[in-house]
Amino acid sequence: MEHPFQHCSACGAGAPEPRSGRELVCRTCGYRHFVTPIPAACVILHDSTGRLLVIRRAHEPGLGRLGVPGGVIEGGETAEEACARELREETGLVVAAEEFRYFTSLPNQYLFQGFVWPTIDLFYSARVESFDAAVPDAAEVSQWMALPADKVPLEDFAFGSNAEAVRRWRMGVPF
Ligand SMILES: [Zn+2]
Repeated sequence: MEHPFQHCSACGAGAPEPRSGRELVCRTCGYRHFVTPIPAACVILHDSTGRLLVIRRAHEPGLGRLGVPGGVIEGGETAEEACARELREETGLVVAAEEFRYFTSLPNQYLFQGFVWPTIDLFYSARVESFDAAVPDAAEVSQWMALPADKVPLEDFAFGSNAEAVRRWRMGVPF
């Protein structure tokens, strides 16, 4: 799908016309539609021995492939609050929003309802004493694992942004 708008969302006329990479305008009423990056919060959770929390995805896109916990930031949330919420929802681990520190950001793409949306993945790190309290939500995560950073199989990741963030984390170089 070239863009997600089959009809004008204001007047119901046919698909709006692309005006630029991010803007589409209705030929009938002039209503402006936008496709801009969706911000997502992603969690690099590590312990004192340098292991990272890696999850196996239980749904598409990327079903069965690996990643780090994360998801779309909701209205009114800070990115740190979204990290805490997504981590809790996906893995059951409770880490306060204040514990997260910004690490890096990477653009990504997310196939949803037939359209590949641009996203901007914002990676935050936090440290825990242990991952033992993890109880994954089966709808989101089919498996979790704690792996030494240099043993994370980046080629099995669903998203290049997640793999690149872990690669940067390994190198200790927040670009
Ligand atoms: Zn219209």
